[in-house]
This record gives sequence, structure tokens and C-alpha cells, in this order.
Amino acid sequence: MGFNIDDFTFEGAVVRAKSLIDGQKVSQVVTINPEMIQAAEKDSNFANIIKEAEMVIPDGVGIKLALKLTGKKAYRIPGIDFAKRMLEEAASTNIPVAVVGAKQEVVTKAVENLQKEISGLNIVYFHNGYFDDNESIYEELRAKAPKLILVALGSPKQEEFIYNAKKTINPALMIGIGGSLDVWSGNIKRAPKIFRVLGLEWLYRTVTQPSRLKRIFPALPLFLIKVINYKDKI
Ligand code: UDP
Repeated sequence: MGFNIDDFTFEGAVVRAKSLIDGQKVSQVVTINPEMIQAAEKDSNFANIIKEAEMVIPDGVGIKLALKLTGKKAYRIPGIDFAKRMLEEAASTNIPVAVVGAKQEVVTKAVENLQKEISGLNIVYFHNGYFDDNESIYEELRAKAPKLILVALGSPKQEEFIYNAKKTINPALMIGIGGSLDVWSGNIKRAPKIFRVLGLEWLYRTVTQPSRLKRIFPALPLFLIKVINYKDKI
């Protein structure tokens, strides 16, 4: 369908991301799910952002299933776990971190919790996700020069914000993290481990937040049908 998805293992993705942090440019990590592919098929600008991203990791079980259906290798890498691990890596090597996104009280609480939980974590800048002027945020990022930047504005806003940052801020690794700050702030509970292990986190989230139903239905089944049709053509 025209999108390249990395087939890293979790550890492989961490190694690659660490090398990008040490790179000479801004690198973008997209944690992709079926809704994003559906959106990108209707929005060429968003499709282009995904195609140019330095890393595209399969966040949800839908993408893993799609890759399996087309006979490809697939490891699911939950974006929230990957981002947390990168924060731990940053803390252990004293890499400065920034966090942008979510409501003011959510990002404040999430930063407080993360700093308590991850010893040595150096968050040099954070800002809520409700702003009109990207430029003022880019300016502050230029001034504080974090090397790892987590962006939680939802899709495609966060991917666009990161893509546009590429031209203007100092070298850094930027990861779109969706609703992760809501979880880290303690506002939203993650699915119990059994759901996660079985790849049923989406089911738990949909039952506990029924408003999410419209996000996965009918998008997810339609996406899988499209993948199956595509597979028959190749
Ligand atoms: N958000 C934001 N600015 C906006 C729109 C959304 O900061 O203009 C935040 C929102 O508060 C939430 C996150 O972006 O913390 C999006 O969460 P969502 O559940 O949509 O993410 P996903 O399901 O993609 O992980």
C-alpha cells in the first residue's frame, strides 16, 4: 500500500533510535496504526510525512496482523513502552529531554511522575499541547536544545508538528506518543497485562472508553479487508 514499516525487534528499535539521537539532524519516529494509514490514504501530505520518517514502528496489533497477512515479519512495538524505554536510556546517558502535548495539568503531572520514577531523568522543557503558534514552541526547543523530544498531540497533528520541526530545530530524536502522557499522569489506566500480552489492548480501551469505538470501527476491519485484497494482487 506504499508505506514502509520497520521490522525491528523492540531492542533493535532502541539501538536504532539511540544512533539517531547521536545523529546530525532531526529524526522522526512514527508509531503507526491502521487509523493513521487510512488517514494517510486520504491526505497526501500526511502520507508523505510517514514516508519520510526515519523510523516507522508498528504500534498496534492491526498493523502486526496486516504485515503477517502479507507474509512479512512483524514485531509489535507499543509506542508508550518504546518512549518510556527511550526516556530511561536518555536518563542513563544524561541526554536532555523535552515533552510537548496534552492538557496543562496532564503534562505537569506526567513529568512529575516520570521524574520520580526514572532516576536522573533530565527534562529541560515541557509545554501543554494546546497552542496555536508552533513557531514559539520551536523557538523554545532551539533555546533548550533537548536531544529527545516526545510529542503528544494526537494524529496527524503530532506527526505534522515533528515534520515541520525538522527544518528549524537542533538535531534531536522526536517521537509521536499519542495518549501516553494521559497514562503517565495517572489519568488513564493501561489495559491489564493479560490484555496486552494477548494483543487485546484495543478491546480494553474501547470497552472502558466507548467513544473510541468510532476510531476503530469500521476503520480496522476495512483496513484488514484492504490488506487482504492487496495481498491477492501481489
Ligand atoms: N492533544 C493535544 N493537543 C491537541 C489535541 C490533542 O495536546 O490539539 C493531546 C490530548 O490531550 C491527548 C493526546 O493529544 O493527550 C492524544 O491522545 P489520543 O488518545 O488521541 O492518542 P492516541 O489514541 O493516538 O494514542
